[in-house]
Amino acid sequence: GSFDAMGIREDLLRGIYGYGFEKPSAIQQRAVVPIIAGRDVIAQAQSGTGKTSMVSLSVCQLVDTNIHEVQALILSPTRELATQTERVMQAVGNHMSVSVHACVGGKSIGEDIRKLEAGVHVVSGTPGRVCDMIKRRTLRTRAIKLLVLDEADEMLTRGFKDQIYDVYRYPPPPQNFRLGQICVLLDLLFLSAVVHF
Ligand code: AMP
Repeated sequence: GSFDAMGIREDLLRGIYGYGFEKPSAIQQRAVVPIIAGRDVIAQAQSGTGKTSMVSLSVCQLVDTNIHEVQALILSPTRELATQTERVMQAVGNHMSVSVHACVGGKSIGEDIRKLEAGVHVVSGTPGRVCDMIKRRTLRTRAIKLLVLDEADEMLTRGFKDQIYDVYRYPPPPQNFRLGQICVLLDLLFLSAVVHF
């Protein structure tokens, strides 16, 4: 398998190769094409096998940079993972004008508000801060077409289930999610996590 054969846009391919990836990992070979084709995906593989990078490049592929609204929301269990995803997306998206913001606890709320109001395409965050931003109407959800739950099993273990449901349910019409696709990433063989979503 090669990244070239996956139908990935040219400017993104340059970013992927520029970042140092030469060929897709096993999980990337299996999941990137279905994700960018708009299918719901549950991907289960151990940590460090390329799931987070897979999401970063799939999300870049799906974003329409001409639309200045949040189109993809990636939820992660920790600030570190959410911030790492922001960094990887900025690196692979280096040749596209994609704007990514990490929305995590412990960082300035003022900064979140400034960034979100200036317009970002992708938010990578932790459930608490993301929920807060949605409830303040600072994070507008109406253009979101992809929801990613990274390390979904870990998020459930950490008690984020209610906040994940809140993120999904809170915005009343016409603010509602135009959600087309859900991507759930699991690190463990924890099948109850799948059933709960
Ligand atoms: P991830 O599980 O996405 O966090 O990836 C784990 C590590 O593997 C990170 O250091 C990534 O930069 C690296 N990695 C992910 N995908 C690839 C790839 N296709 N080629 C080379 N390294 C990769």
